[in-house]
Amino acid sequence: MLRSREEAKILAGGQSLVTLMKLHLTSPKVLIDINGIPELSQIREEDGTIIIGALARHDQIASNSVIREKCLLVAEAANLIADQQVRNRGTIGGSLAHADPTADLPTACTAVDATIVATSVQGSREIKSTDFFRDYFTTSLQQDEIVREVRIPIPPPRSGGVYLKLTKGHNDFAVVSVAAQMVFDRDRVCRSASVVLGGIAPIPQHAVETERYVVGRTLGEEAVKEGAQKAAEGLRPPSDIRASSEYRLEMCRVLTGRALKACVSRASGGV
Ligand SMILES: Cc1cc2nc3c(=O)[nH]c(=O)nc-3n(C[C@H](O)[C@H](O)[C@H](O)COP(=O)(O)OP(=O)(O)OC[C@H]3O[C@@H](n4cnc5c(N)ncnc54)[C@H](O)[C@@H]3O)c2cc1C
Repeated sequence: MLRSREEAKILAGGQSLVTLMKLHLTSPKVLIDINGIPELSQIREEDGTIIIGALARHDQIASNSVIREKCLLVAEAANLIADQQVRNRGTIGGSLAHADPTADLPTACTAVDATIVATSVQGSREIKSTDFFRDYFTTSLQQDEIVREVRIPIPPPRSGGVYLKLTKGHNDFAVVSVAAQMVFDRDRVCRSASVVLGGIAPIPQHAVETERYVVGRTLGEEAVKEGAQKAAEGLRPPSDIRASSEYRLEMCRVLTGRALKACVSRASGGV
């Protein structure tokens, strides 16, 4: 149907699409409800990868024991989405396909280097999250493709990850968010770092200068401070009803500092 009807749209949790329809911002001629496909809701671990079906609800992801144990930041991001009612209905596939720049799972999935599996009648293809998000509310999905699942490589031992989000109201969309996943060696030297900022650009942004700075260092107080300062380098976040550009830049630094500290602590078994 997606292939033959240009104005057809997938309906998953309806938490974004139905709102857009109510506001007459979109008027699909055909809605394809995928909620009756149970295999799309599964979450499983396979060969060092966590596989999350596109229809997995935010609440299901937040409370899943494998995700909590092996890739906590994704569970934390899902748990900070909106309120319980939205988390009961909204899905990871819908959140990624909708590609709201202030949404939580796009930022989290980019930080953990997730691969999105897209399927059409012609077969499936894998898309890295860094290639999936293209612009505000725009992805590299073709009109006839659906998100089938999201694959997340399980971080190695001595890894720490965290998702932090600043909002104006309780569990609102992000003013700024940061998702960080870091790997350390036995001497607590950082061996790899993925630090991704949300809410500050059309798509999730790697804090490249922070990542460069922290790799190869032990992260004491001074190095955390210096790494956090670098988070805002080269960024020009928008000013909007939630926050000014300057405030967002400052909050990028603050949240990144907290995220770096949390990664160090979690990698060595702390909270
Ligand atoms: C009050 C409220 C507060 C919210 N707050 C937050 C928040 O703080 N953080 C946050 O991240 N999100 C928030 N959201 C959005 C929420 O996370 C949505 O659940 C999510 O963005 C869309 O998921 P869905 O399953 O509801 O998708 P739907 O609304 O059903 O669909 C959204 C779009 O994705 C497409 N789509 C859905 N599934 C697929 C698929 N498998 N393959 C291809 N295309 C697909 C649809 O065609 C549509 O274009 C909020 C929503 C509401 C109503």
